[in-house]
Amino acid sequence: MSRTRTALRSALARSRMSRLAERLDAVRAALCDAAIACARPPEAVRLLAVSKTQPASALAEAWACGQRMFGENYLQEALAKQSALADLPIEWHFIGAIQSNKTAAIARAFDWVHTIDRLRIAERLDAQRGDELPPLNVLIEVNVSGESTKHGVTPAALPTLIPAIAALPRLRLRGLMTLPAPTSNVAEQRAAFRVLADLARASTLPFDTLSMGTSDDYRAAIAEGATLVRLGTAVFGPRREAA
Ligand SMILES: *Cc1c(COP(=O)(O)O)cnc(C)c1O
Repeated sequence: MSRTRTALRSALARSRMSRLAERLDAVRAALCDAAIACARPPEAVRLLAVSKTQPASALAEAWACGQRMFGENYLQEALAKQSALADLPIEWHFIGAIQSNKTAAIARAFDWVHTIDRLRIAERLDAQRGDELPPLNVLIEVNVSGESTKHGVTPAALPTLIPAIAALPRLRLRGLMTLPAPTSNVAEQRAAFRVLADLARASTLPFDTLSMGTSDDYRAAIAEGATLVRLGTAVFGPRREAA
């Protein structure tokens, strides 16, 4: 009986593993195709696996398939997975909304933060990043959809926010991030991503990162210059219950 159960369990684990491996392979091929379709080198587009609501075991499986960068939205959930996976040198990205009472933990537990939307948060992360750690890579989240979404700064805020954040010694401002209002219209998707790309081109700072595109619109994002796409369901399948 228990041998059957053990065999069943390992068969289940294998089939889960192979489904994730297949999805990751398919995603990598699709990103490669999307880059080539717009004459960009495939290595210019990196994959951030968005693992919110997924168990630590799913991240470990993706790791075994070569995935190294994971994005998390909720601090407590992320900290639990980080301690479960402490042996794996994962590059952790925080991509959720930031409350100021969470900055101390975020500043130390992550390698990247995509969702800086005010100077006060950047200043706290800078003050709370440990001296023994390398500078925290940060992106400014920009609202490119006007009133239809509430996250991110307005484009008009960037000329003052960019130099202010760039001056913080324990942060390294790498670029811009956006999560536009969802639309299935590809022309509208591209227009929103183009706003972010144009803002990055207009910046006086030499940005190297444009974080844009999810499972539903990564092709449009890549066509407009995304360097980091944030894919959850395309990699892991449907999300579990919210954490
Ligand atoms: C959840 C999330 C994603 C991934 O969305 P999918 O549709 O699952 O690919 C990307 N970016 C942010 C900011 C998210 O919260």
